Amino acid sequence: MIFEPVVGLEIHAELQTQTKMFCGCRRVDTTQAAPNSAVCPVCLGYPGTLPVVNKRAIELALRVALALGCDVLPESVFARKNYFYPDLPKGYQISQYETPLASGGALRIVTPAGSRVVRLRRVHLEEDTGKLTHADGQPPASLVDFNRAGVPLLEIVSEPDLFSVEEVKAYTTAMRRLLRYLEVNSGDMEKGVIRFEANVSIRPAGSRELGTRVEIKNLNSFRSLVRAIDYEVLRQSERLARGQRVIQETLGWDETRGETTSQRSKEEAHDYRYFPEPDLPPLRIEADELARVRAALPELPDARRERLMSQYQLGAAEAEVIVEDRATADFFEASAHARPALAPRRLAAWLTSDLFGTLNALGRPLVDTHGQPALAPADFADLVERVVTGGITGPSGKAVLEEMLRGGRMPEAIVRERGLERIGDDAALREIVQRVVRENAAQADQVRAGKISVVQWLVGQVMKASRGRADPRLVQTLLEEYLSSGRDG
Ligand code: ADP
Ligand code: MG
Ligand code: ZN
Repeated sequence: MIFEPVVGLEIHAELQTQTKMFCGCRRVDTTQAAPNSAVCPVCLGYPGTLPVVNKRAIELALRVALALGCDVLPESVFARKNYFYPDLPKGYQISQYETPLASGGALRIVTPAGSRVVRLRRVHLEEDTGKLTHADGQPPASLVDFNRAGVPLLEIVSEPDLFSVEEVKAYTTAMRRLLRYLEVNSGDMEKGVIRFEANVSIRPAGSRELGTRVEIKNLNSFRSLVRAIDYEVLRQSERLARGQRVIQETLGWDETRGETTSQRSKEEAHDYRYFPEPDLPPLRIEADELARVRAALPELPDARRERLMSQYQLGAAEAEVIVEDRATADFFEASAHARPALAPRRLAAWLTSDLFGTLNALGRPLVDTHGQPALAPADFADLVERVVTGGITGPSGKAVLEEMLRGGRMPEAIVRERGLERIGDDAALREIVQRVVRENAAQADQVRAGKISVVQWLVGQVMKASRGRADPRLVQTLLEEYLSSGRDG
């Protein structure tokens, strides 16, 4: 029997606020900050303290809900989810349960099989827990850092609407891109600011019913997410093939051993003894606030890709690469506006191949975390225009680009200083061609004897002799002309 995977995802995304969800503590980079350096009686759960809702967190959450097309509930309720865990000193997590911030909504995904809409169940607000580190030693110890306790978390829950790991990958990368576009989350997976829980079941292909699912907790990277789902689909298929049942349970993922491990039999909602948080009033979202957030939404990735394609005649693949990151798309558009006469496709090609390639080699981003680009969009456009109009050759262009990135200087100065103007004059180039042929008589003879492939080697020598300032196609024509003219210099 052929089984089809069915996956529903819970995505936890930290919201990029200045302070925590219910107290004034700064939200810090938990991979960098000294442990327990951003804590206070509220997020440490001291008795007698009171939570106060972070307005900014609500605004960021609304951005996401609106961008996903969810229905925002006029009134949502914070609830206590009770459980004991060392990284949760209050003994409960403030979350939303029966009435979440928003419900419904959808996200469009694109896979090689085409484009499809994944339905969402709900989007709600909660607070993050602290972080435990288990240290070997005598005796073994568990260390706890509460810097993350109380950080605002947005939970985005999908319907069981993903039917392959390709779709899971497409969904999670599209969601990450959206969160970054909305400037609610940095997308830094290594810092744990986005985490996944995967609900996985299988069913006979073609069936409409849902099978028994397991929930895999704490998946912190795309790689673990995909590996864990692959593993579970195989494990469940084997069980069913042997006539065994899948048991509904909560699983952990062991990254080193590459397998899921049973954590506990599936908890039911009533095990958490949810009840409305008595210290917080219901969260009321006024219509005008919602309208204000909606009006301030940026152009979203899908819409932007369509616009880049029609406004600048970009191909779908190029446009996709450029909209991956909002700062990259902004950079592209700024460079296109700086040189309106230049074909934007040429800019896009240079951006996605040469500029990205050089930046990668230098280990630098196009735009840094302060929004500062590695080079001015107008200078980049100036450089590409010089290549396109033949002022300098492509290879020279690459050299100039590298120097612009290293030294922060304008293309004109670099071209002038290094004498990189293209050798446009055939006579000057003929002279170099003749000299190279003279100096490489053996190779020239090979070409004359019919070994055509050696021409490319001679072209390379001429390019070298011209310091990249010659047009390689012209060089090849001149070389072929010269070698077949019968003269041997
Ligand atoms: P809970 O609140 O107990 O975690 P929910 O019913 O709200 O459970 O579902 C949580 C997630 O599990 C959702 O993303 C949902 O799409 C997914 N899910 C529910 N049933 C299945 C199933 N049979 N197979 C795969 N995913 C499922
Ligand atoms: Mg769950
Ligand atoms: Zn605090």
